[in-house]
Amino acid sequence: MVRTIVGANWGDEGKGKITDMLAAESDIVVRFQGGANAGHTIINDYGRFALHLLPSGVCNPGVVNVIGPGVAMDIEAFLREMDDVVAQGVPRPAVLVSERAQVLMPYHILLDCCEEERLGKNSFGSTKSGIAPFYGDKYQKIGIQICQLLEPELLREKLAHALDIKNALLVHLYHKDPIDLDALCEQMGELAERIRPYVADTDEYLQEAVRSGKRILLEGQLGTLRDPDHGIYPMVTSSSPLAGYAPVGAGIPAWSIRDVIAVTKAYSSCVGAGPFTTELFGEEAEELRRRGGDRGEYGAKTGRPRRVGWFDCVATRYGCRMQGATEAALTNLDVLGYLPEIPVCVAYELDGKRIERFPVTPKLERCKPVYERLPGWNCDTRGIRDFAALPENARRYVEFLERQIECPIRMVSNGPRREEMMFR
Ligand code: GDP
Repeated sequence: MVRTIVGANWGDEGKGKITDMLAAESDIVVRFQGGANAGHTIINDYGRFALHLLPSGVCNPGVVNVIGPGVAMDIEAFLREMDDVVAQGVPRPAVLVSERAQVLMPYHILLDCCEEERLGKNSFGSTKSGIAPFYGDKYQKIGIQICQLLEPELLREKLAHALDIKNALLVHLYHKDPIDLDALCEQMGELAERIRPYVADTDEYLQEAVRSGKRILLEGQLGTLRDPDHGIYPMVTSSSPLAGYAPVGAGIPAWSIRDVIAVTKAYSSCVGAGPFTTELFGEEAEELRRRGGDRGEYGAKTGRPRRVGWFDCVATRYGCRMQGATEAALTNLDVLGYLPEIPVCVAYELDGKRIERFPVTPKLERCKPVYERLPGWNCDTRGIRDFAALPENARRYVEFLERQIECPIRMVSNGPRREEMMFR
């Protein structure tokens, strides 16, 4: 049985929490795209973790965590995170890294930083983790797979070829020092030995796991609106966060995916650049940002204040559809208890006309939100474990969103901890 957990919006919807919780009843958790450029916050009996590259199953002893071929594998970040998790008292997790995953190189990070600097205020809001240069190289076919990293002569040949291009850019476009081939080979050779024990033929492992009926969770990073094809291009990420990409990036048959769980927050939050129709500013934004998430709405990766806004039914309906969601999980409902009235965006106004379909980016830039105001519930709902025990207005709020996004909301999260969850 294979389930995929993905974001319906801009990322940071709370996928980590849902994955950590569902991992308790799973055998395998797989990351299928992205790299160490985002964060998943999970809070359980071991403590609080902001995971970047490790699958969110690592706090469940007994679960095998897999990093699939679609992931941008930053080996140093991976090893650091493993050490941190173990230092916090988690039994050393079982992790397999695909031999086909490509290696995020130090020059990817360097070029990402140089390019952001060059773009200045026109930048895409990169987290400077090297993600765009990494996927650029992958599709330009000058990336380095882990299996190639493990063969020193081949590695040297590949690096020499890559440096011809990278050094030309570094020296002539960015006016930096060139990278030394010998030093880079030595650095990567050391990392190769440290990652070697984790490397496996994960395609075979997962295909066999599917055949034998293992319970598998595929975990996406970011959300629909950051998809390079279906998101708010060009303010998107460089790999597809869609469930449709999950079988590719993980290495399992597409037919095996049974459920697609699209995670969405009870309000909106967005890190990074791009049109964000329901965005709030000033005092109203400050208050929601301060109350949101487990420690306020600040990026788990960058610490940047997240942009916040009211729930956007247009964007989320589109987000769920493009994910092919079979169900939705609504998180952070507890955050809204302070509001006497809650605006929900039910349509956009585009050039004087009402639209209900999420438009392409240039049109989206011109859209204004059309709000409907729902009554709030004016109380703290944390601790409630049964959906039926929620105040009536809170239930109505969830039911309203469910109708709007046209996707059944089966899980409602009522606090950041693993056990704070209501099932419908
Ligand atoms: P991810 O990238 O989708 O895994 O999401 P993040 O971990 O970046 O952001 C989600 C934030 O919401 C984190 O601070 C979580 O601890 C927090 N969170 C998740 N579910 C809930 C919830 O139901 N209530 C509250 N208050 N916080 C939650």
